[in-house]
This record gives sequence, C-alpha cells and structure tokens, in this order.
Amino acid sequence: MVTRALDVVVLGAPGAGKGTQAKRLAKEFNLFHVATGDLLREEVAKGSELGQQAARFMQRGELVPDELVAQMLVGRLHSQRGMAGCVFDGYPRTQAQAELLDGLLAELGRRVDVAVYLEVSDDEIVSRLGGRRTCPRCGAVFHVRTQPPAQEGLCDVCGTALVVRDDDREDIVRQRLAVYRSHTEPLLQLYAGRGVLRRISGEGSPEQVFGRLAEAVRGGRGH
Ligand SMILES: [Zn+2]
Repeated sequence: MVTRALDVVVLGAPGAGKGTQAKRLAKEFNLFHVATGDLLREEVAKGSELGQQAARFMQRGELVPDELVAQMLVGRLHSQRGMAGCVFDGYPRTQAQAELLDGLLAELGRRVDVAVYLEVSDDEIVSRLGGRRTCPRCGAVFHVRTQPPAQEGLCDVCGTALVVRDDDREDIVRQRLAVYRSHTEPLLQLYAGRGVLRRISGEGSPEQVFGRLAEAVRGGRGH
C-alpha cells in the first residue's frame, strides 16, 4: 500500500517551544524537519548560488525575500521526493509565504495536511524568555526557573556574569509577540477555513505538549 505524504506546519510565537516539538514530531512520524532559518544558514555556508544571494541581503541587515527562501525550499523538497513528508517548523509566517508553500507542495501533488498552532499566553512567553540568562563570553544559556546555574548569576561553564539579552527583555518580547500575532492571525484563518487547523495548548511539560501535538497530527492524517 502506498501512503500519501504527510505535510505538517507547526506554528507558534517565539518562545512557544515549536522548534523542540517540531524536531521530535519529525522523528516520531519519520518526517523531514524543515526550518527555513537552518536552510538559509546551510545554503550560505555551502556558498551555493542561492546562498550567496541570500548573504547579500543578510549583510545589509535586510530580510531575505520570500521568493529566495521558496527557491531553497524547492531544492529541499525535490531532494526529499518519495519521502514520508515534512514538518515545517515556524514556516510559513505570513499569508504570502503560505501561498508560496501551497504552490510548491501542489507541484509534488502534496498539500498542508495539518497546521498545528501551539497556543501559549503572552505572560507565559514573557516568563519563559524573560527568565533566560545568557553568558556573554561562551554563549551558554540558563533559565532562572527551569535551568538555573549552580551559582546565581554566574556561568557554569566559564564563571562569567550572566546577562539578559535585549531580545529577551519584557518590553521587546511583548513587541515581538504583537508583531507575530498580527502576521499570524490571517494565516490561522486561512488554515481554519480549509479545516486543517488544530489549536493545541503549548503550556505544561514538553511531554504533555508533545502528547497533544502527536494526537492532533494523527487526527489530521485522515483529512
Ligand atoms: Zn560562559
């Protein structure tokens, strides 16, 4: 029996835990994990034609255009032809990207089968990111609540005083969340309209969240 590919989109705000969950999902369902940030870095590191084009935007501090990222995705999807499918980790982020992805999948006779949205309250995200402490010297990351350093405020690895990165400051986090939600709302409506959206709670232990995620994906498989 030939089973159809399964393509899953995992959506969630920064700090919702989608990276960890998406990787585990890919492993559990034998799917290919696709994170466009990783894809970009790989292409840039390889010095491919697309990577060089992307690097020029990045060096200027500009966003890499959707079309360019989509071309990288095409290469990746074609190299995965015949595979069980993909977990798209944090992509698409906008309606325009969703339409690009639809086109790419359609060429392979595929579509987004399930879009899972990890729901985490703003306050929980602020607490998760706001509790992060980063070592400015070696880059080690700690968390005051879930992964405290042995000695408060000091890096376990090199003993340097830990700092709160600008990106993790509450005002910046709330700003990023507002931007994320304004871009994502139309995306949620798009997938809801097709009957493929599953909203699940991203709060609780990683085990609990994964249980909900796996169930949502199994339920969406027959769609
Ligand atoms: Zn350190």
